[in-house]
Amino acid sequence: MPHDHSDHEQPHALLPSDPALRVKALETILTEKGLIDPAALEDIIDTYENRIGPRNGARVVAKAWLDDGFRAALLEDATPVVADLGYYGRQGEHMVAVENTADVHNMVVCTLCSCYPWPLLGIPPGWYKSDAYRARAVREPRKVLADFGVTLPNETAVRVWDSTAEVRYLVIPQRPAGTEGMDEEALMALVSRDAMIGTALARQP
Ligand code: FE
Repeated sequence: MPHDHSDHEQPHALLPSDPALRVKALETILTEKGLIDPAALEDIIDTYENRIGPRNGARVVAKAWLDDGFRAALLEDATPVVADLGYYGRQGEHMVAVENTADVHNMVVCTLCSCYPWPLLGIPPGWYKSDAYRARAVREPRKVLADFGVTLPNETAVRVWDSTAEVRYLVIPQRPAGTEGMDEEALMALVSRDAMIGTALARQP
């Protein structure tokens, strides 16, 4: 077992301090006992590292910006539209897309726990699960937005959507000015995870 400075600072740490080492040890034992299949495990890890993540949601947003028909279908019933792109599965069974406009800014929270559209946005950020965000998003959404650096015009209403085990939301941010002529890939780069939760705006090109 390698020794480093943390061992001196934490003399009680007899186990590896790095959680990754503990996970590896556990994986080895479970594999040796025949309780897990390493190939299946790799597939799960690959899914969450590479295939699921905010790029999926960003692709949906870029398509909505580029294609009015796609956008209309998405707003009408998002679940089959995103499933057609291959974005479905756990925590994304019932998707609702909500569109930001000059009149309304949408923002998503789960006041009960941490419900989140995994197939489109991956694993939720730590702050999304925090007590502070869950309480304040509903009580003082404009202040929360200000904490994220977002200031909206007074005439823009803020609508907060509470996720549930049944329904997950995707915010379609407003398309920034000066993006005419940009293709899907270029537009995707302007769409951050937070913009699709509603705690950020799309980036300016
Ligand atoms: Fe939840």
